[in-house]
Amino acid sequence: MKDAELLRFQCFVDGRWVDADSGKTVEVTNPADGSVLGSVPMMGADETRQAIDAAEHAWPAWRALTAKERAKTLRTWFDLMMANQEDIARIMTAEQGKPLAEARGEVAYAASFIEWFAEEGKRVYGDTIPQHLPGRRIVVTKEPIGVTAAITPWNFPAAMITRKAGPALAAGCPMVIKPATATPLTALAMAVLAERAGIPAGILSVVTGSARAIGGEMTGNPAVRKLTFTGSTEIGKELMAQCAGTVKKVSLELGGNAPFLVFNDADLDEAVKGAIASKYRNTGQTCVCANRLLVQSGVYDAFAAKLAEAVKALKVGPGLTTEGAQQGPLIDMAAVEKVEDHIRDATEKGARVVLGGKRHELGGSFFEPTILADVTPAMKVAREETFGPVAPLFRFETEEEAVRMANATEFGLAAYFYSRDIGRVWRVAEALEYGIVGINEGIISTEVAPFGGMKESGIGREGSKYGIEDYLEIKYLCMGGI
Ligand code: ADP
Repeated sequence: MKDAELLRFQCFVDGRWVDADSGKTVEVTNPADGSVLGSVPMMGADETRQAIDAAEHAWPAWRALTAKERAKTLRTWFDLMMANQEDIARIMTAEQGKPLAEARGEVAYAASFIEWFAEEGKRVYGDTIPQHLPGRRIVVTKEPIGVTAAITPWNFPAAMITRKAGPALAAGCPMVIKPATATPLTALAMAVLAERAGIPAGILSVVTGSARAIGGEMTGNPAVRKLTFTGSTEIGKELMAQCAGTVKKVSLELGGNAPFLVFNDADLDEAVKGAIASKYRNTGQTCVCANRLLVQSGVYDAFAAKLAEAVKALKVGPGLTTEGAQQGPLIDMAAVEKVEDHIRDATEKGARVVLGGKRHELGGSFFEPTILADVTPAMKVAREETFGPVAPLFRFETEEEAVRMANATEFGLAAYFYSRDIGRVWRVAEALEYGIVGINEGIISTEVAPFGGMKESGIGREGSKYGIEDYLEIKYLCMGGI
């Protein structure tokens, strides 16, 4: 590392680097080899309350700044993240497992949200509305919602934080962040840079430790006006229920079950490229990863063969030490067991293993990139998010059947389809009940577009001009006596 200061094992609360009140810690390990990278504080409700109190205290001065002044500080944070891209990427690969190239990409992606929202904060426009009675004027203003809290997952240890902290801070809100227990070091490194950028004490705090205790305080404390969460649907529902007690605004980015449709008229080489990018990125551990590959009969065998060729070429290895690695380990052994369970369930019900199907010879949580054929809706892979490197191939005959299968899930985050027929492109794009649709494209994430799900995949949108709305309140000013 160029800058050893970025590797921190303390939390950042109210502008200070601190340990847990109890002195307890929790280990952070490298999923590629199980080695211990260090330990971070095991904080709970008390420390979280301190961070929330500090945020409340710091809020008035931060909101009183002009958007341009806040933008200047955020821009410095962005610059520092890019200047330290390599170090942050190394920390990320060490604790998360993704190949270094992907980690570098994520740092740039993460930083882009700070840059984007620093600018977008200047464009929080209000409205004037023609009056309904003489002598009145109607004005609508937007205000920062107040203290915000964020709970983030391990699959994107940097970007899931900045797409929340970027708009919050730009809008004039402080944020208390609980990163995933598996990947706190990336979050703490970003906090070091936030401090260096001059973000005032209390405006951005990071607490690590007990998810239940920290989450309980975040959702129960009336000073917190908004909770934003990215993670599993199960925990998201729990948190939403917990927030009901104080009627907090919530943003949820939850699980997906992304369908990836390949029609007879698709460009198969492009479809394979898209499937590799969508399915195997981050070793299948993203909420927008293709979870079900639905292929029309006419191209089923040809697509399966081409996909197998491409998947065979994927290089598996530890991200820090394998040059050109494309597939890292899964986050932990529980993830491996879930993947195995899905494969076992599918094969018992008649699916065929085209490629892979078992733990990788590298050991630990490495898993062979896998393709299953002859998969049916009766199998677990049809309904549950596998979150691993398994591509299950379903077969369909007609467009109607494809759309019906694609929508037959309680999730609605991302969907993809490949077709060159302009009429079909419009029909299918409109029929898919998903917040994000990739059309002849497997990679859809960018800070300039709204990311979020329908149905049980979530509430709210992150990124783009819409992403800042979640951190704003609308105020209606009714002025009389004019
Ligand atoms: P995943 O592990 O798939 O990312 P989780 O929902 O388990 O999804 O975790 C996402 C984040 O939510 C993590 O930061 C985790 O520590 C946190 N979390 C898990 N359980 C709870 C809970 N009961 N209350 C608050 N946060 C939780």
